[in-house]
Amino acid sequence: MLDLKNVSVKYGNFTAIKDINIRVDKGEIVVLLGANGAGKSTTFRTISGLKTPFKGNVLLEDDLIDNKPPDKIVKQGIVQCAEDRKLFPEMSVQENMMMGAYIHRKKKNKIKQTLKEVYKLFPVLYEKRKNPAGSLSGGQQQMLAIGRALMSKPKLMLLDEPSIGLAPLIVEQMFESIKQINKEGTTILLAEQNAHAALSIADKGYVYENGNIVVEGSSKELFANEEVRKAYIGA
Ligand code: ATP
Repeated sequence: MLDLKNVSVKYGNFTAIKDINIRVDKGEIVVLLGANGAGKSTTFRTISGLKTPFKGNVLLEDDLIDNKPPDKIVKQGIVQCAEDRKLFPEMSVQENMMMGAYIHRKKKNKIKQTLKEVYKLFPVLYEKRKNPAGSLSGGQQQMLAIGRALMSKPKLMLLDEPSIGLAPLIVEQMFESIKQINKEGTTILLAEQNAHAALSIADKGYVYENGNIVVEGSSKELFANEEVRKAYIGA
């Protein structure tokens, strides 16, 4: 579904990712691991059209997308859920949700149906649909960010650190929800510090170090890799 081929990206003179190769197949959950600043967010920005690689290509279903603007990429089926969530705190939960549906704004019935599906996945958002987004807890805000992204009916969802700042129990629920979203047909590319939880739901992963991918493999292989265990998973 998604292919990054020898992708390199710069900020000014600084090369943030170097010769990256990533493949995400339809139906998979793929995780990007690595320390802060290793290049995961830059990879996401490149896929969603916010950065243009100076070398290499990004393909979605064999169509080159690395020169397309972000709105075209959303229309082609890739939606990004950013690390900082970017909600509109004064607007209601439902109004925030509807912002995610703008590409389908002419299809009222489709939007209604999708809204129903998202509320089924996150019932608490239905309960709080009239409340301002800013009044939600951290976990609920993350659900809303994911719910809003789902409103565009993406083929591929990019999730940057969905568990950041959340309590352990909430993190667990968040990963369960991600698994469920995937089961219902959305392919997922995920960046996470929480390597253990992420690998537990992922099919495969890539490990970043200073802008390079240094290890890749199935989740099972990464769990079994001594260096990956030591650096990212713990005992
Ligand atoms: P994090 O989890 O902290 O976001 P990351 O793995 O996603 O880490 P990136 O945000 O992709 O890492 O950053 C990769 C490198 O690019 C870092 O060295 C970072 O300082 C640098 N970088 C990121 N954004 C910019 C920018 N706008 N201008 C200059 N350098 C940047």
